[in-house]
Amino acid sequence: MKDFTINTAIEYDLPTPFQGRHLIAGEWVASAETFDRVSPSLGKVVSVSAKGDEAVTERAVTAARQTFDTGVWSRASGKERATILLKVADLIEANVERIAVQETLESGKPISQSRSEVGGAADLWRYAASLARTTSGDSHNTLGEDMLGVVVKDPIGVVSIITPWNFPFWILSQKLPFALAAGCTVVVKPSEVTPSSTVMMGELLIEAGLPAGVCNIVLGHGQPVGSRLSTHKDVDMVTFTGSTAVGKLITQGSSHTLKKVALELGGKNPQVICPDADLDSAADAVTFGVYFNVGQCCNSSSRIIVHESIAKDFVARVVALSRKVKFGDPLDPETQVGAIVTSEHNVKIDCYVQDAVADGATLALGGDALAVTGLSDQFYQPTVITDVTPDMAIAREEVFGPVLVVLTYKTMDEAIALVNDSDYGLSAGIWSENVHTCLEFARRAEAGTVWTNTWMDGFPELAFGGVKQSGQGREIGSYGFEEFLEVKSLVMRIGRSRPPWVQSDA
Ligand code: NAD
Repeated sequence: MKDFTINTAIEYDLPTPFQGRHLIAGEWVASAETFDRVSPSLGKVVSVSAKGDEAVTERAVTAARQTFDTGVWSRASGKERATILLKVADLIEANVERIAVQETLESGKPISQSRSEVGGAADLWRYAASLARTTSGDSHNTLGEDMLGVVVKDPIGVVSIITPWNFPFWILSQKLPFALAAGCTVVVKPSEVTPSSTVMMGELLIEAGLPAGVCNIVLGHGQPVGSRLSTHKDVDMVTFTGSTAVGKLITQGSSHTLKKVALELGGKNPQVICPDADLDSAADAVTFGVYFNVGQCCNSSSRIIVHESIAKDFVARVVALSRKVKFGDPLDPETQVGAIVTSEHNVKIDCYVQDAVADGATLALGGDALAVTGLSDQFYQPTVITDVTPDMAIAREEVFGPVLVVLTYKTMDEAIALVNDSDYGLSAGIWSENVHTCLEFARRAEAGTVWTNTWMDGFPELAFGGVKQSGQGREIGSYGFEEFLEVKSLVMRIGRSRPPWVQSDA
C-alpha cells in the first residue's frame, strides 16, 4: 500500500506580485515601507504590501469616525445599505478566480478550496443584506394610558476588524457585511501573512458604490496596527479572529476605553465516536475534519474520543482514508490539502508530534515532513497519533496542523468529561445512530457549536462562536448581526402633561 497520495508540482504562470495599498477615506494610500509575502508552497514573492504605522492607522480611524458621524452610512436606509451589499455579492462572484488564486498563493491552501471559500462568501453578503432590511426593535404599549415605550437599535459606531491568515476572505465576510448592514463604519486589518484578498475586497466595495470612508483598510502587523486599532478611543468595538493569546492582549488593551470586544479564538475540538455509529461516514468526516486547510482551522477536529471496543478498527479506517487524501501542489485543482503557512509553524507542528512520541504516544501514521517534488519543504504528512493521555500537550493545545489525536472511552460520562476537560469550547461532535445519545451529548458538551453525525457544516443563518477560552460574542446569523447594534429605549409621554414633581404655590 502506498504511504501517502502526493500531487507533485504543476506548471503554472504566476501573476506578477500583487501590490497592496491601504484604503483610507476612499483613497488608495501607498507607504515608503513595504513587506513581502512569500508563497508557502513556491518560495516566491507573491505580494508586496504597504506597511502600516501609527500615523496611517490614526488616519484610518479618523476617516471611519468622521464618516460615521456624517450619517452618510449610519443613517442610510436599510434598503440603501442592502442594495450595496447585494452588489458586492455579485462582484465577488464575478471575481472569484482572481481572488482565489491570490488566496492560494499567499496561504498555500488548495485552489479548489479557495474558489469555494471566495464564491461561498457571496452568500454571507446576501444574507447580511436581508438583515439590513429586516432589523427592528420592539414597542411597549402596556406601560400605562399616557406612556409608550419603543426600543430601537442603532449601529454601534466605528468597528475595528482584525482577521487571521487561515480563511482571510471568508472570515472578513463573516464580519464586514454584518457590520455594514448595521450601519457601522470600519477599519479592517488583515493578517500580514494574507493581506491581498482584503485589498481586493476594498476594490469591490468601491466598485459597488460604498461611500468613501465607510470601509478603511490598513495593512501591517499586530504591532503597531492591530494594537492601535484595539486601544483607540474613537473605536467603539473590536471584532477579532485569531489566537487566544492575542485575543487576551486585545481584551487588556481595549479595557482602558471599555469598548465592546468580540473574539473568535482557538479550539481543541473533539468528536466522540460511539460503537453504534455509521463508522464509514464518521471515519470520512474525521479525516476531512483534521486535514481540511492542513488542520490550520479553528474548527479542526484535532482530537477524537472513540469507544474502546471499536478504537482499533476505527483508527485503521481513518489511517486508510488518510493515505488517499491528495496532499501537494495547492495550484493543482485536484489537490485537497496544501502547504503549511510558514516554516516556523511547520517546525511548531513537528515539535508537538515529537514531544508526544517522546512522552509515550504512538504514530499510527505520518509524523514527519512531506516531500513534494518541485515545491518547498513546507508540507507535513497526514499524522494520526494513538496511545495519547489526556494530560499531554498534544491532547490539550491547538497544534493547528494535519495531526489527529486519538483518545478512548468506556462510558458516555467518561467521554463527556474528556470533551469538557479543555480550556477551549469552540465545537464538538458526536457520531451515533441513537438520537437520545446525540441529544444528551448536545446538552452536556461545552461548545458553541455541536454537530451530530456531521462535521463543520455551517450556514449564514446559524450563529458561530465559542465558549470558555474559544471566545466571546457570536458571529453571523441574527445573533452575530446584533453584536454590531446598540439598543436605545425611547420613553414617550402621550397627550397629557406630566404630573408636576414640585408643588405649585397656590
Ligand atoms: P494571530 O492571533 O497571530 O493573528 C490574528 C490577527 O491579529 C492578525 O491580523 C495579526 O496581525 C493580529 N495581531 C497580532 N498581534 C496583535 C496585537 N497585539 N493586537 C492586535 N492585533 C494583533 O492568529 P493567526 O495565527 O493569524 O490565526 C490562527 C489563530 O486564529 C488560531 O489560534 C485559530 O484557532 C484562530 N482562529 C479562530 C477562528 C474562530 O472563528 N474561532 C477562526 C479562524 C482562526
